[in-house]
Amino acid sequence: MRTFIVPLLLTLLAGALLGPIPSILERAEWPRREPRAALVLWQAVGLTGGVSLLGAAITMALAPLADSPWRALIAYLDNLATGDLTGGLQPTHLVLLILAASITVWLAGAMPVTIWRTWQARRRHRDLVGLVSRPWPAARPGHGHVLEHPVAAVYCLPGRVGRGAPRVIFTTGALSSLDDDELAAVLAHEHAHLAERHDLVVLPFLAWVSALPWFPGVRRARSSVATLLEMVADDRAVLRTTPATLASALARIGSATPSAAPAGALAVDGRGVLERVRRLLEPPRRSRSWRLSAYALAAALVAAPVATVLSIF
Ligand SMILES: [Zn+2]
Repeated sequence: MRTFIVPLLLTLLAGALLGPIPSILERAEWPRREPRAALVLWQAVGLTGGVSLLGAAITMALAPLADSPWRALIAYLDNLATGDLTGGLQPTHLVLLILAASITVWLAGAMPVTIWRTWQARRRHRDLVGLVSRPWPAARPGHGHVLEHPVAAVYCLPGRVGRGAPRVIFTTGALSSLDDDELAAVLAHEHAHLAERHDLVVLPFLAWVSALPWFPGVRRARSSVATLLEMVADDRAVLRTTPATLASALARIGSATPSAAPAGALAVDGRGVLERVRRLLEPPRRSRSWRLSAYALAAALVAAPVATVLSIF
């Protein structure tokens, strides 16, 4: 009987992390007070959700072989070593194991595919920008580019060195909409994205959505993480400007730009812009207790699948 406790617990954990917990986290108020801690918690939710899902399928498939997951795994490998291609599993459990292996390959493959697609889209756009833009000397040398377009848009293309160096792109519409202080504020926001490599933070969530698009919790994670990254960049930008100046710039650009940035870019657009403007003008009180609780919960979530398996060792 206890053979099935681990898969049952892992199934419950995976179900909670792919459904109700993202819904609760998405509606919570405290992440706007502590966006960095909320980002860490979202990462733990995504990681543990995936590990629990796979762990549930694998431990369920191997359950008939022994009374603990580890002994079952050893028994399965021993059976394979003796030439039993089924590993000693009945057809139902063998199908479950094949299903678990397929999900593993699917999830593991989503990450490199997403990285490749994002890198390709970014490279194409960077080449295009190189052809049709002109330098904007007010930005960091080599980083600022101006595109002739009436729609006010600002976005950055992350990168490292050489031809793939990071770029901040302003449209002429943005340059004519914003005054010098607002342009500096937006530039500080984009530099925050580039300096903290927010493109790398969002990549696992893009992969997660492409691998499991039918789970609402996965889609919630992606949109919440995108909004939280904007708040983190706002918080860093206001160290170099005033919150009112950045709020004014966001209001002008966010209301004028439905979604002008290409795939692979991080943009100032309409995503949660009203919420961000309100947050800048009426900064919420920081909360040490929420922050520490979020970090502790994230650590507990990551440890949960391992502890579940070890507890029945
Ligand atoms: Zn941004």
